[in-house]
Amino acid sequence: MLQELSRIVAQDKNFLNIINGRQGAALSQETITVLCPSDGMAFATIPAGNKDDVDRAVQAAREAFDHGPWSRMPAFERGRLLTRLGQLIGKHGEELAALESRDTGKPIRQGKADVAAAMRYYEFYGGAADKIHGDTIPFHDGYTALTLREPHGVVGGIIPWNYPMQIMARVVGAAIAMGNTLVIKPAEDASLSTIRIGELALEAGFPEGVLNVITGYGREAGAALSAHPGVDYVTFTGSPATGTAIQQAAATNNRGVTMELGGKSPQIVFADADIEKALPVLVNAIIQNGGQTCSAGSRILIERPIYNEVAAALGDRFSSLVAGPHDEDLDLGAMINPAQKHRVENYVSAAAEAGIDVIARGSIDINAPVSGYYVAPVLFGSVEASAAIAQEEVFGPVLSLFAFDDEEDAIRLANSTEYGLVAGIWTKDGARQHRVAKRVRAGQVFVNAYGAGGGIELPFGGFKKSGHGREKGFEALYDMSATKTIIFRHD
Ligand code: NAP
Ligand code: MG
Repeated sequence: MLQELSRIVAQDKNFLNIINGRQGAALSQETITVLCPSDGMAFATIPAGNKDDVDRAVQAAREAFDHGPWSRMPAFERGRLLTRLGQLIGKHGEELAALESRDTGKPIRQGKADVAAAMRYYEFYGGAADKIHGDTIPFHDGYTALTLREPHGVVGGIIPWNYPMQIMARVVGAAIAMGNTLVIKPAEDASLSTIRIGELALEAGFPEGVLNVITGYGREAGAALSAHPGVDYVTFTGSPATGTAIQQAAATNNRGVTMELGGKSPQIVFADADIEKALPVLVNAIIQNGGQTCSAGSRILIERPIYNEVAAALGDRFSSLVAGPHDEDLDLGAMINPAQKHRVENYVSAAAEAGIDVIARGSIDINAPVSGYYVAPVLFGSVEASAAIAQEEVFGPVLSLFAFDDEEDAIRLANSTEYGLVAGIWTKDGARQHRVAKRVRAGQVFVNAYGAGGGIELPFGGFKKSGHGREKGFEALYDMSATKTIIFRHD
C-alpha cells in the first residue's frame, strides 16, 4: 500500500506556492527539481521563490493580520481551525507519510511517526488556543492594571529539512493559536509536506493570507523573509551559522526571534544504571532519522568501571544496523543530500585518520541504489573531549563514547561543548538524578529515558549555542505572543 503511494508521489508533480489562499508558481516561473535521497532521482518540482514572491506573501499575511476578519476571530475558533487541520492530516496520513519519507529519505515508519506527531501538535494547540490568559496586577489605589497576551503579527517561519512536518506543526500550531499570521519558508530539500499541509489548511477553512508558503533557496527566499520589514517575528530551526545570519537580518528591523540551533547532546551512564533498559534507547537516540536530529544523543559518557561492557554491547548493536531505501523501512535511511553525506563521511574519515578507535560500523543494504546518499553508522570509542566529533554537530549516524571517573567528571564532560539542547542521565540513585539534572546545561534533561524530539507538551529549546526561546508545550504560546499591560484609573 505504502509502496504504491510512493509511486503515485513519484510521478511528475509540480508543487506550488500558497499566497493569500491561492496556489501559484514563482513570479519568475523558475523551479527547483526535487530529488529522492534514496536513489537521487527527480520526482517533482517546487517553485524557486525569491524576494518578490516573499514580498507578496508577507503583504498577504500583513493584510490578513491588519485588516482581515482574523484579528477579531475568537480564540476558540482559531483552535477549531487547528483541530480541523490535525484531523485532515490524520485523514491523509498515509499519503503524507509516503510523501515525507520519499522527500527526505527517512524510513516510512518515521514518516508515519512524523504524521502522528504533527497531528498531536495541531490537537494540542487547537485545545490550548483559548486557555492562555493574562493577569490582573495589584497597583495603586484608584487603578486597575491587567495584561493581555497579544500576537506579534506576521511570523516568518524558516523550517529545516530534517523533520519538516513536525517543525512546521510546532511553529504553525503555536503561532495560529495566539492569533498571528504566517509566511513559512521550508528547506529547498524538503518542501513537499509543507506545501501539502498548506493546501489542507485551506481545506480546513484557514482564511486567506493567514498561512502562506513560499519555497525557494535559503539564501534568496529565506534571507528575504528574515530581513522583511513587514515581518514582526522570526522563528528558525537549523544550523548556528544560518541562525546568526537570520538574527542579523531580523536585527535590521529590531524584530524578535526564536532560534533552535541543534546540539551535541550527551547521555551519562553511571555504573548503577539499568544497562539493558538503556541500550536500545542509546542506539535509537543517534540512529533515528539517520542522526539528522537536533536533539540526537551523539555523545555517551560512561562511568569507567562499566565502560568496556557498555562499549562492547553498543558495538554489537551497531554492527547489525543497516541503512537503506525509505520504503524498505530499515534501521535508517539515506542522508538528505550529497553535501550532507560527504560532510558526515569527512567527519568519520578525519576521526579514523586521527587514530580514534572505531569500535563498530553498520552497513548499507546491498540492494540500495548506488545513486542514493547512504552512510553506514559508525561507533567511535575512547574519544577525547577536544576532538571534532566530540564538539561539532555531525548530523549523521556517528556516535562517540567517552569514559568518566566520577559525577564531577561526568558533569564537566557533559558541559564541555558549546551546545546545550538535551541531556540524558542513567542512574538508579535518586539524589544523583536531581543533582546532575540541575547541573547539566541543557534545555531538556531526561532521567532513565531519552526522547529525541520527544513530547509535544514539553517545553523545548537551547542553552548556549543551541539557541534561545522555547517551542512546544505552553511555553511556545508565550514566545508567539507579547504582553500588553493596560492601566485603568478610576478614582
Ligand atoms: P541551514 O542552512 O541552517 O538550513 C535551515 C533552513 O534555513 C532552510 O530552510 C534553509 O533553506 C534556510 N536558510 C539557509 N540560508 C539562509 C539564509 N541566509 N537566510 C535565511 N534562511 C536560510 O542548514 P543546512 O545548510 O541545510 O544544514 C547544515 C547543517 O545544519 C547540518 O549539517 C546540521 O548540522 C545543521 N542543521 C541543524 C538542524 C536542526 O534541527 N538543529 C536542521 C538542519 C540542519 P535552504 O535549505 O533552502 O537553503
Ligand atoms: Mg528531497
